[in-house]
Amino acid sequence: MKPDLFEAPDYYNLDDLLTEEHKLVRTAARDWVKRDVSPIIEEAAQKAEFPKEIIKGLAEIGAFGPYIPEEYGGAGLDQISYGLIMQEIERGDSGVRSTASVQSSLVMYPIYKFGSETQRKKFLPKLASGEFMGCFGLTEPDHGSNPGGMVTNFKDKGNHYLLNGAKMWISNAPFADVAVVWAKDESGRIQGLLVERGMEGFSTPTTHNKWSLRASATGELIFDNVKIPKENLLPNKSGLGAPLMCLDSARFGIAWGAIGAAMDCYDTALRYAKEREQFDKPIGAFQLQQKKLAEMITEITKAQLLAWRLGTLRNEGKATSSQISMAKRNNVEMALKIARESRQILGGMGITGEYSIMRHMMNLESVITYEGTHDIHLLITGMDITGLNAFK
Ligand SMILES: Cc1cc2nc3c(=O)[nH]c(=O)nc-3n(C[C@H](O)[C@H](O)[C@H](O)COP(=O)(O)OP(=O)(O)OC[C@H]3O[C@@H](n4cnc5c(N)ncnc54)[C@H](O)[C@@H]3O)c2cc1C
Repeated sequence: MKPDLFEAPDYYNLDDLLTEEHKLVRTAARDWVKRDVSPIIEEAAQKAEFPKEIIKGLAEIGAFGPYIPEEYGGAGLDQISYGLIMQEIERGDSGVRSTASVQSSLVMYPIYKFGSETQRKKFLPKLASGEFMGCFGLTEPDHGSNPGGMVTNFKDKGNHYLLNGAKMWISNAPFADVAVVWAKDESGRIQGLLVERGMEGFSTPTTHNKWSLRASATGELIFDNVKIPKENLLPNKSGLGAPLMCLDSARFGIAWGAIGAAMDCYDTALRYAKEREQFDKPIGAFQLQQKKLAEMITEITKAQLLAWRLGTLRNEGKATSSQISMAKRNNVEMALKIARESRQILGGMGITGEYSIMRHMMNLESVITYEGTHDIHLLITGMDITGLNAFK
């Protein structure tokens, strides 16, 4: 793979909207991605392996629990810092950002928000340092966009719960030490359970043959009469609203992350267009290529503004789930379109692993589907503005 020459576009001087702390956090993440991710990520993706050697670095840049308070091992940062970290990581690879998103928003966040003090103390510091890795089990083979229909369930057996069922498409599952699993109790209410590796009847087979997010490990979670100690139930919230709150946090991170992937594709295509000559001039001198590049920077700038404003709303505790849906949907589609256009600017070279664009493009095909599909986020906006539910 070519050396990482990335230079971040900031067409509207958006850096003026950031604090010194935001910039420091971003610089640390950006430098780490250049040094430790870019040189190894292409090979990891080609081999379809999550590069475990980067776990320590992810923890050091604050990617595990950026906004979890420091007393639990988190970085104690605000939402914009969280977004910037996700942006920089996804600039390197969406699969690596997925690992960080799951650990922070889907594992640490529910333990922090819905867990007991004992659960917080037991799990959060180890998850923040990367000593423990976690995963989040909501999706099932027959229930993806409609998680409320889940069949995974547990029964109260007096001194423990008995968990049965299966989850599918679970990021980090193959190596996770702890899984936050959403299952129905005997009354049909959704509750969160902490399922730990080694519990009898719990297995995590790897999902193979992915053409997308190849540097992220995906697997199933199988529960065959797993005895769950009662202290592993998340006590402070139940119902579908609990996992949806986690998804809000993760989707917010994706809205920022997608900008990173788009910036990397744009920056690569811009550099290539200025260097590559055809018909005795750089291809960037042709109007058709300039149209592509000009539209890309316009869309990136709009996405940056959307993400920044959403970050300020999140900091004030005012962002709605529908606002988060709009940003996730818009920014991921923007990134995917930019990846496709950038790939064309590189001609044949665009399909090779010499450049990051094709990997970003394939990764974004998952990002546009997980954490709520592109269609589902549109329906969320539709319902929000009309008051009418078009899901069923
Ligand atoms: C790489 C990867 C990693 C993932 N990681 C995780 C994870 O860590 N944890 C986890 O719980 N899940 C995870 N997922 C699952 C992901 O969230 C689901 O794939 C997603 O929610 C969609 O579910 P589905 O694949 O079953 O598609 P379906 O729900 O079957 O949807 C299929 C199509 O139908 C459309 N559709 C569905 N309902 C409607 C409707 N009402 N109106 C119109 N169109 C509709 C969808 O938009 C989609 O185009 C991951 C998925 C992938 C691919």
